Amino acid sequence: MNVDQALQDILATPKNIVITSHQKPDGDALGSSLALYGFLTFHQHKVDVIFPTDFPDYYNWMPFIDITQIANKTDAQKASFLNADLIFCLDFNSIDRVEEVKEQINQSKAIKVMLDHHLKPQLFCDYNYSSPKSSSTSEMVYDFIIAIDRDYQLTREVAECIYTGILTDTGGFQFSCTSNATHIVASKLLEAGIEPDIIFNNCYNNFSLDRLKLFGFCLDQKLKIIRDSVAYICIGPEEKKKFNIQEGDTEGLVNFPLKIDNIGISVLFKQDEGKIKISFRSKHQIDVSAIAREHFHGGGHRNASGGTSYESMEKTVEKFEKSSMN
Ligand code: 5GP
Ligand code: MN
Repeated sequence: MNVDQALQDILATPKNIVITSHQKPDGDALGSSLALYGFLTFHQHKVDVIFPTDFPDYYNWMPFIDITQIANKTDAQKASFLNADLIFCLDFNSIDRVEEVKEQINQSKAIKVMLDHHLKPQLFCDYNYSSPKSSSTSEMVYDFIIAIDRDYQLTREVAECIYTGILTDTGGFQFSCTSNATHIVASKLLEAGIEPDIIFNNCYNNFSLDRLKLFGFCLDQKLKIIRDSVAYICIGPEEKKKFNIQEGDTEGLVNFPLKIDNIGISVLFKQDEGKIKISFRSKHQIDVSAIAREHFHGGGHRNASGGTSYESMEKTVEKFEKSSMN
């Protein structure tokens, strides 16, 4: 990665820094933010990590997780944004993905830096590092760190954060975004002392009984298949209540229908307050980001995207069925 010399010069002396990431932070949002936190605090910067919304409890084991803040518009937080010299925007490329801190970012005079790997970036920062070829923003943070400090001795904590982001955004090194560079970075993380089995268990073998039963129920009772190749699951208030669904509990469910040989697209529609959150996954060359972007106010990657619908579940599914025809 080529990091602008001007930005390197700014980072050469201690600064007030805010790191933020997208709503409902996932493993990569958390991993990239916390890894960068570890690196920047090592270099004597004062850093606040502020997420727009809360993250699932099963990430509570991560290094530095206790220093994170959730956006709350308190004076202290407003001051963090206002007094920041720099704001790092990680793992999102459109200001609409951070509704809860959008105003603070826009009002702040800080120099803004984007590090992101999603398609179609909106270049809303002063320095925009966009790399859709990278497996994850965490992999980009590794590249960023090395680009500005060749001699940095990667700590185990920082390595654990980066590995978490890579692991979760590549689905355990299985998606096509996994490159030789991804594996080279992973090998450096192993050298720094991470234990991959422990991180894997922390990220994936962490279900509550309710969550496991929810998966079983959805696959047995809620899975619909159309045109022999497209699968979808709708989750409404009944399932929410029956399985006591918590933040993050449906994570990963959308991948299961792709286990069927001829299914090329899988979609999860989840009823939230006043909107339906949609997750799209696909195999091979099928581009679900176009469906998410053109019809559901969203975007993401070719094989993994998300969006939102403000219509009823019935109308949303109908719209999806039509938009996925081509
Ligand atoms: P998930 O289905 O796991 O929520 O999201 C899958 C991918 O799509 C992630 O890379 C995520 O960043 C992206 N994504 C999810 N929701 C949205 C959205 O509302 N807008 C955009 N632009 N991307 C999204
Ligand atoms: Mn990511």
